Amino acid sequence: MQPIATIKRTREIQKKYQIFTKKNYGQNFIIEPRVVEKIAQAAICDPDELVFEIGPGIGALTQFLCQRANRVIALEIDERLPEILGREIEGNLEVILQDILETDIDELIREKRQEGQKVVFASNLPYYITTPILFKLFEAKEPIERITVMMQKEVGQRFLAREKDSDYNALSVITHYRCDVKKVMDVSRHVFSPKPNVDSIVIQFTFHHRYSLENEEQFFEMVKACFKQRRKTIYNNLNEYLKDKEKTEAVLGKADIALNTRAQQLSLDDFIRLYGAMK
Ligand code: SAM
Repeated sequence: MQPIATIKRTREIQKKYQIFTKKNYGQNFIIEPRVVEKIAQAAICDPDELVFEIGPGIGALTQFLCQRANRVIALEIDERLPEILGREIEGNLEVILQDILETDIDELIREKRQEGQKVVFASNLPYYITTPILFKLFEAKEPIERITVMMQKEVGQRFLAREKDSDYNALSVITHYRCDVKKVMDVSRHVFSPKPNVDSIVIQFTFHHRYSLENEEQFFEMVKACFKQRRKTIYNNLNEYLKDKEKTEAVLGKADIALNTRAQQLSLDDFIRLYGAMK
């Protein structure tokens, strides 16, 4: 297999089909085969897993996903690309011309998945919509096994952050509620064409199903409220949310959290205890 993820092949394909990259779609193509190979290796554990790729571009990562899995379904917004992918990548690939943010993920999985099949997502994400895409996947009701994605390094660090880290915020807590999060690798800005202004990181999210609160939306709302003003104490932020000083004090007391604590010092388990005390 001749990798698409080289500067030579990328330029050849762009010339052959007379296409230029579209900045408004976040198009930065990978031009280093070792990077896409490693993402594909991390993303797929078994060839029978059903693989969804978000934003295949001209197929740099797609090619390696198709090599490792029996079935790959790629969702791409750019109408110029499905035809190119069809011609350049043989076999087990289905390309759907569709905006991921307009996609009903549950319906898509129900339609494509065979009984008992594990579902995984992989992507070199369009960076301008990293968080909305991930939250869409986190909120899916149909089972997803894992998500392996490249994103801007700063954003990735927030997903990885633990209590007391400077990047720790509501997003970190909500993500850890659903998934175990690990870094796969750092990626330099020099392996993209065109070269972006930021470095990247590949992160893997594995759904763990350890928690199942009855009203998750309300829990997420409380977590966001606790982080609303980072410099304020948990007491101040929570009081603004509950609008009841006595209740706020009682809830924090019941959860065994000191009034002068700050949200960024609390672990996911602390937040779950706090939520329990609020009920
Ligand atoms: N996978 C290719 C690679 O690694 O070289 C391209 C990655 S590029 C960073 C992001 C891709 O996502 C582009 O192909 C872009 O057209 C596509 N894209 C952007 N917004 C999208 C959306 N809302 N839905 C689906 N695909 C999108």
